[in-house]
Formats: sequence, C-alpha cells, structure tokens
Amino acid sequence: MKDILPVDGRFEMVELPYGSGALGVVSAETLGFHYGKHLKAYVDNLNKLLPGSGLENMPISEVVRKAGGGLYNNAGQVLNHVMYFEQFGMANHEPSGELLGMIERDFGSFGAFQKEFEQKGATLFGSGWVWLSLNGEGRLVITQEANAGNPVRSGLLPLLTFDVWEHAYYLDYQNRRADYLAALWQIVDWQVVESRMGID
Ligand code: MN
Repeated sequence: MKDILPVDGRFEMVELPYGSGALGVVSAETLGFHYGKHLKAYVDNLNKLLPGSGLENMPISEVVRKAGGGLYNNAGQVLNHVMYFEQFGMANHEPSGELLGMIERDFGSFGAFQKEFEQKGATLFGSGWVWLSLNGEGRLVITQEANAGNPVRSGLLPLLTFDVWEHAYYLDYQNRRADYLAALWQIVDWQVVESRMGID
C-alpha cells in the first residue's frame, strides 16, 4: 500500500485523481461534502492532535497502529478516506492477472467475492468500513471494521475499502446502503487496488 508521509510534521489533503465533479455513481454534492468537509475535518483534527503525541513525523500507517483515543480516530479516518478516494476512477473496473487469480482461489469467483463484500458492508451495524486485505499467509480476507478501524491494526495489508458511514451515501442513496455498495463496483479502479499488494 501507498503510505502517507507528513510534511514538516503535518499531513496535507491529497488531491483527487479525478477532480471534484461527479464520479459516476457518486454525485458531485456527495463528493464535495465527503472529501471537502469530512476528510478535511479529519486532516485538521489529526494535525491539531499530533504535536506532543510522540508520533510526529511518522507515516500515517504507524500513527494508526500506535495511537489511541482521538488521535487514533482521526488518523484512521484520514488513512481510510485516502484509500477510499484514491481507489476510484474511470477505468479498470474489473480485476485481472494475479489479483483476479487470488480472488478466484479464495472466494470462488469475482461475483462471489462481490456478493460477500457487499453483504459484509450491508450488515455492519452503525458506522464503519468493509475491507479486502491480504493476510500474513498471502490469502485474501474480507473484514468489517467499526468507526475508524483499519486492518493495519491487525497486521493485515489493506487493498480495497467501501465506506459505510451514512455521510458516504445518504445524499445519493438515503437509507439504501445496499444499493450504494452494489453501485460502487462501477467506479473501482482495480489497477490501483492491485498496486497496493506491494508496499512502497
Ligand atoms: Mn467517510
């Protein structure tokens, strides 16, 4: 996965690779609030809480692994949202090559994987994230994480995530979380997901 490094002890907003307009099944209004307001607030809070924490100047994955309380919540939400926003795009909407082979090996088929991923996202109670990660044995696993949770806390390598906080879908889908989850496949860029299998 691509880590995020602080610059002079502060984290900055990442640029969206596709601009601020509508992103297929995600409206420009949702993107404006989700990226421009929610992520911005997490970044600002993280930068307020970092000084004096002993975790200054560490990559964000280290902050997420080591922090507690508010610092953990905000660092987790920054890492989660950057991974979420960066994995979308206008191309490569199906996995291929090595990653497709691993999905077929561990879930039976791409369709069976999608069904399980959507189901775990739909049944996560309250706010959180559904993740596809690589475990220490090289197997793909789907996990649910509450609130700001990220699989790096459990020693997994995170590859793909769908945000199931209501702010991610309510403007476009209201209470229909399952419809939002099913629609997101149309904008996942699997080349980005595949690039996360290496560590840089
Ligand atoms: Mn969110």
